[in-house]
Amino acid sequence: MQIQISDIRRAADSIKPHVCMTPVARSATLSDKAGVPVHLKLEHHQRTGSFKIRGATNAILGLSEEQKKRGVVGVSTGNHGRGLAAAAQKAGVRCIVCMSELVPQNKIDGIKGEGAEVRTVGRSQDDAQIEVDRLVKEEGMTMLPPFDHADIIAGQGTLGLELLAQIPDLATAVIQVSGGGLISGVAAAIKAERPNVRVVGVSMERGAAMYECQRAGHPMIVEELPTLADSLGGGIGLNNAYTFEMVRMLVDELILVSEIEIAHAIRHAYWHEQQIIEGSGSVGIAALLADKIQLHGPTAVLLSGGNIDMTLHHRIVSGEDVDITQEN
Ligand SMILES: *Cc1c(COP(=O)(O)O)cnc(C)c1O
Repeated sequence: MQIQISDIRRAADSIKPHVCMTPVARSATLSDKAGVPVHLKLEHHQRTGSFKIRGATNAILGLSEEQKKRGVVGVSTGNHGRGLAAAAQKAGVRCIVCMSELVPQNKIDGIKGEGAEVRTVGRSQDDAQIEVDRLVKEEGMTMLPPFDHADIIAGQGTLGLELLAQIPDLATAVIQVSGGGLISGVAAAIKAERPNVRVVGVSMERGAAMYECQRAGHPMIVEELPTLADSLGGGIGLNNAYTFEMVRMLVDELILVSEIEIAHAIRHAYWHEQQIIEGSGSVGIAALLADKIQLHGPTAVLLSGGNIDMTLHHRIVSGEDVDITQEN
């Protein structure tokens, strides 16, 4: 089962009134360093601070009237919850977001600020999922998952259409990978239009679920670990329906970056690009700074989100190599 370019075009039409087309900015320092033009896609300036509102909006607009009346529920490390909350509020749909107690307070506040109810349960996404299942069963709400859902993937894929339109000579797209909804949609759009454009996925070394599953050749359980790239945490699901296969077919390369490289990238974005981005948003820059990707032409690096705790951000840009693994 795969998402087609026609699904992504339809998503682009339906979400257009609700999301912004975020700008692209050429990075002088990264272009100099890489020897090719490097363009940053500033998606952290999207409404709700990440691209997640694209998929969430597309999925909510695709619900039946009966489903809209009963409301939606999600389980989220933060950005999906916030995107879902904002999309639901705009559509006048009730929304409950369940999450683990490990999620940073700034993300919980962000979700409440978008008008959703938040329930914190347990120490993992799996614990939160139990509450979601109850709401679906007992209250008839619709669960919208963060990545493994056709309408969500098509919505995230609208970013791929924008990259093609904004960077006509694009050669390589560098995209974050967690559950793989984002890169599956983006790669589906890009490969349908220009199959020669390389799509490179980047995850953090600590708990890189999609990377490990692709190496193993099948979905499996990968332990979730604390990381600066907290929006990239979590597994891909043992019953993965879309993203494992789409990543296998459409993504050219998957690479990993370390915690120190992520901290350097957040710092680089601040001091050299004047951008405040969260760890997950920075892994593409991290990969370029660490020379981990071979680049052959104009390159797009997605800055996927900006929802970082500002105290943590301040420590990192002040020069501290924050080791999040010692703080939890
Ligand atoms: C969710 C998220 C990702 C990863 O998206 P997937 O579809 O799960 O791969 C990357 N960056 C940010 C900021 C996110 O919130």
